[in-house]
Amino acid sequence: MQPFDLKKATTVARAAATGASGATSGTMFLAGGTNMTDLMKYHVLTPGRVVYLNNATSSDISLDRRKLTIGAGATMTKVAYHPDVERYFPGIRDGLLLAASQGIRNRATMGGNIMQRTRCPYYRNPSFACNRREPGSGCAALEGWNRYNAILGGSDQCIAAHFSDVANVLAALEADVLVEGPNGKRTIAFADFHVPPGDTPEVEYSLRPGEVVTHLEVPRSKAAENSCYVKIRDRNSYAFAISSAAAGLEVSGGRIREAKLALGAVGTVPWKVPAAEAYLKGKAPTEANFRRAAAIAVEGAEPREFNAFKVELVQGALVEALTKLSA
Ligand code: SF4
Repeated sequence: MQPFDLKKATTVARAAATGASGATSGTMFLAGGTNMTDLMKYHVLTPGRVVYLNNATSSDISLDRRKLTIGAGATMTKVAYHPDVERYFPGIRDGLLLAASQGIRNRATMGGNIMQRTRCPYYRNPSFACNRREPGSGCAALEGWNRYNAILGGSDQCIAAHFSDVANVLAALEADVLVEGPNGKRTIAFADFHVPPGDTPEVEYSLRPGEVVTHLEVPRSKAAENSCYVKIRDRNSYAFAISSAAAGLEVSGGRIREAKLALGAVGTVPWKVPAAEAYLKGKAPTEANFRRAAAIAVEGAEPREFNAFKVELVQGALVEALTKLSA
């Protein structure tokens, strides 16, 4: 691991100030560290300065009439087993408990989870070309072993898939990301927080220098109360998804009033599917309609040599999630 300067922030304001002042020298924020320290050991991330956040960010969870508020420092375990999450946001619980291992969930924070780095194997191995790790070096995945890469949202610079499970649920349920930086606080819609690779795959989030994620807010809804997460993976424990689906469904009088949907492990960002949501609105909750919505959800997919199977697999995940919610 490359030597680095470690700062422990006691407040978010101090963390933001430290982060902004070191922006040009490669300052990074560290929370639970379950993803970032691995990448530092592999020389994938080589920050000159690390600002430790866990004494600064809130780990509180609260519910009011409009929304659930989650402190960015709350661990995955704390959120997953919170009674209000279990009762009003079961999809968030599913997305957390189907991820990682109990040990990691006890340590990893919500802020870090939504900012975890891709599992593209070439990103994690500095001996391969990777535009995300080293801009302008090329992309070994485009013509390489791209089984874990994205079929939606890629560019000719990068096709890395996003791998946070709970981020897909938060995308489906239209959460907000609250951040604080040197110039104050602001709110970023979850759909705008992760940035597709385009010509700058090294830019992964819409954060400005020094900005720290402080909270996540998830609006309450009937669809959130009837939500779930279906994850398909190579083995049934401690594995990343190869396809997944987050869904929330409000059904009343035999018709779908609202569908909130996102696909996982197939997009370069958590893949919200508004056209599929719009298709389902007002329809009967039938398998035929679910299958049509799933087909709409993958329109525009650009599969590669080793990941074409995802086009069908992720549709199956979405149909399974919708079927479960309408039973
Ligand atoms: Fe790097 Fe992205 Fe290509 Fe993977 S897909 S090698 S992360 S540029």
